Amino acid sequence: MVQKPIAIIGGGIIGLFSAYYLLEWGEKVVVIDKSSGNEGCSFGNAGMVVPSHFIPLASPGMIEKGLKWMLDSESPFYVKPRISLELLKWGLQFYKNSNQKHVDSSVPLLRDLGLISKLLYHDLAQKLKYSYEEKGLVMYCKKQNTLDEEAHVAELANNIGIEAKVLDKKSIHKLEPEIRPEVAGAVYFPGDAHLNPTELIESLKKYLVDKGVVIKHNSEMINIQTVGDEITSLEIMNDEQKEMLEVGNVVLAAGSWSGILGKMLRLNLPMQAGKGYSVSKSQVPNKEIFIPNILVEARVAITPMSGRFVRFGGTMEIGGLDGTINMNRVRGIIKSVPEFFPDYALDVPKKEEVWYGFRPCSPDGLPYIGHSGAYKNLFINTGHAMMGISLAPASGKLIAQQILGKKTEMDLNGFSAQRFGN
Ligand SMILES: Cc1cc2nc3c(=O)[nH]c(=O)nc-3n(C[C@H](O)[C@H](O)[C@H](O)COP(=O)(O)OP(=O)(O)OC[C@H]3O[C@@H](n4cnc5c(N)ncnc54)[C@H](O)[C@@H]3O)c2cc1C
Repeated sequence: MVQKPIAIIGGGIIGLFSAYYLLEWGEKVVVIDKSSGNEGCSFGNAGMVVPSHFIPLASPGMIEKGLKWMLDSESPFYVKPRISLELLKWGLQFYKNSNQKHVDSSVPLLRDLGLISKLLYHDLAQKLKYSYEEKGLVMYCKKQNTLDEEAHVAELANNIGIEAKVLDKKSIHKLEPEIRPEVAGAVYFPGDAHLNPTELIESLKKYLVDKGVVIKHNSEMINIQTVGDEITSLEIMNDEQKEMLEVGNVVLAAGSWSGILGKMLRLNLPMQAGKGYSVSKSQVPNKEIFIPNILVEARVAITPMSGRFVRFGGTMEIGGLDGTINMNRVRGIIKSVPEFFPDYALDVPKKEEVWYGFRPCSPDGLPYIGHSGAYKNLFINTGHAMMGISLAPASGKLIAQQILGKKTEMDLNGFSAQRFGN
């Protein structure tokens, strides 16, 4: 009998790593992606691999901060007011989860997922050959009260086994000579890493295709056929032609579109797209930025990539799947950089030079990884928000383990795709 493939809906980093581990365990895999294959959230992001980011977005104080930011057109966070039941439900869940109890239960989950991923990236860098460096991450603070908050996170990090150091001005300069002396201080997480996401995806795709995985681009999953509680085929639209693909198992890894597709699949996966922007510029000769860093007040991520250029990324706009580029927010990113790196006073880029991506955000800040509960052969791997690159290898490995009935490397209950009901 011909083996039916495992179909993965979504060819971003989460879909590709799901494919990778299924392939490694001998499965036949088809990845279906509606994009042309070189765009989307997994490409132009900041490439940080950060086990240090173990606190979920839904946490105490976030609502207050968010409301304050809403009043500033250049701020890093914005919710576009609109009449949407989905947004309302999502906001309500976000509010319900923004408490200490939720943080306490999420921290070990995000820490473990992050640490497993980091180890996998370390090993895979040799095999897949993408630019990957383990130089850590610095969180720069302009103001003392921000530094105090970050120092508190550093203390928590050390308590849960993630190394963190609070740096004074002198030690900051040793690490990054080009930083302005006015910064109040910083927290350094030496265990973090970074990579070039485009190189990663290209090498991962090449590896998969060479080993027999079929990756179909410009192919949109538009419907399913079922028998009882099993999905038997996916209806795919490619180049205005319909195709029926018979499937064994199915993995939904469609990023910010997973919530909408979830409805077709009898699932309740609350999801909002959190749009972010990035701009990439060459390193300034003799004034290079060495260590990936985050400007904490501005929420701007700065990553030196592939020894050639620096990427500046930020902003979280909850505004639906709307690809309009808001230049005010891009300006906010650009303006914050020379406050820390005086040689990086960048011109505001043209719209065409700005990259954007939709982060798939669940309302409690945790991804959905596991069985769907809706169809017996449907599995979910999505909702990684600001951490999709960081968490992709572990998430891919875990979903593959679950599909194949292997013991999962960590417990998946906290990531249940059914946690918001059906
Ligand atoms: C500015 C910015 C900076 C970031 N920096 C970092 C960082 O430093 N570290 C980090 O860990 N994360 C970072 N992220 C987050 C990270 O980029 C995302 O979490 C990650 O890319 C999400 O991957 P994904 O595969 O879930 O989604 P996507 O990459 O969006 O992939 C989903 C795919 O599904 C496809 N699809 C949708 N619907 C269908 C359908 N019906 N049929 C077929 N295909 C479909 C889409 O075409 C898309 O290609 C950043 C994001 C932004 C915006």
